[in-house]
Amino acid sequence: MIDIKNLSREKLKALLLERGYPAYTSQQVFQWVYKNRCEDFERMTNIAQPMRVRLKKDFFCSHPVLLASQQSGDGTRKFLFELSRDTTIETVLIPEGQRNTLCVSTQVGCSRGCRFCVSGTLGLKRNLLPGEIVNQYLAVSDLLVPAKVNNVVCMGIGEPLDNLGNLIETITILQDTQGIGLTPRKICVSTIGITSRLAELNRLAIRFRLSVSLHCADQKKRDWLMPATKKYPLGELLPQLRLFAQKKDMPVTLEYILIDGINCEKEDAFKLVAIARKLSCKINVIPYNQSAYFAYRPPDPGKIRQFQSILKDHGIVCTLRTPRGQDIQAACGQLKAEFNTGHTSHDTRHTQGMEK
Ligand code: SAH
Repeated sequence: MIDIKNLSREKLKALLLERGYPAYTSQQVFQWVYKNRCEDFERMTNIAQPMRVRLKKDFFCSHPVLLASQQSGDGTRKFLFELSRDTTIETVLIPEGQRNTLCVSTQVGCSRGCRFCVSGTLGLKRNLLPGEIVNQYLAVSDLLVPAKVNNVVCMGIGEPLDNLGNLIETITILQDTQGIGLTPRKICVSTIGITSRLAELNRLAIRFRLSVSLHCADQKKRDWLMPATKKYPLGELLPQLRLFAQKKDMPVTLEYILIDGINCEKEDAFKLVAIARKLSCKINVIPYNQSAYFAYRPPDPGKIRQFQSILKDHGIVCTLRTPRGQDIQAACGQLKAEFNTGHTSHDTRHTQGMEK
């Protein structure tokens, strides 16, 4: 049995043709699953009955179990999904007026171990399959009806470029106009900047927004703060980012967390200016979100203003990210879906109905 949700329409088509189904079946199935939100092959009424029976034997549609959800005072919602026994992930919905942004996880845990990031303390358990990433979108979208998820950001748990094949398949599914149809600008991938993977992406036609967790414009400091990036020095990263912006005709954003005593002095800002100038990019300044796991803190508001002013005075476009969902540990870097949550008994499961 094959999970339909893991397959882009092209892949599904190839598989169906191989098995003797008519060429148009892939489009019909895609429309049912992603446009009409019908996952029951028997109810796919424009497909011939014997074909529906065959589909049901060959394929299935996976869905996650919503174990728990929390809502922040600022409207941010965090969802804990169970994918398989003992495997849970978190997804965060960030409403801003009419706009709903969904922050999805791409891995169970993360192997990259940035010094300040709670998700990194988990280590990597496994990559998420395309269906498991797409299902985060579908499950939350179903809860929101009639409102829609307008943006997807791969900024949850995991390093998306460490799961590149499945990420590409996921984005292809999310962008398919026969299904969900998100445009390239509505999908953003955040990465620590794995240069070989960026080079690979730069050779492909797929388009989406890119955000890079820079956090330090000084090579030595960055090597210390994000040890995994030692292998991807700024001198190799920046050309790939420039190429990405050019090839995809899509702006690149640099994310820069301000951590008190680490990276928010004037000289840090000047070094950042130098990099931003070479790239013509936007900078997203993020005061560090505190957690119980680390002693790091954000700088005081004066320092944050000073840092921003230096960037602005040098003509760099810079936005300040206001933390969302801090009270429910849903803000950037606070996600830590436990593997063994103890929530797996049916009594404590939230059903989608209850959530509404
Ligand atoms: N691995 C990818 C995707 C994760 S995105 C990446 O690093 O880009 C999560 C973002 O939150 C990253 O920019 C990460 O550096 C940032 N982050 C981690 N801990 C944080 C914290 N405590 N406060 C603010 N941002 C944090």
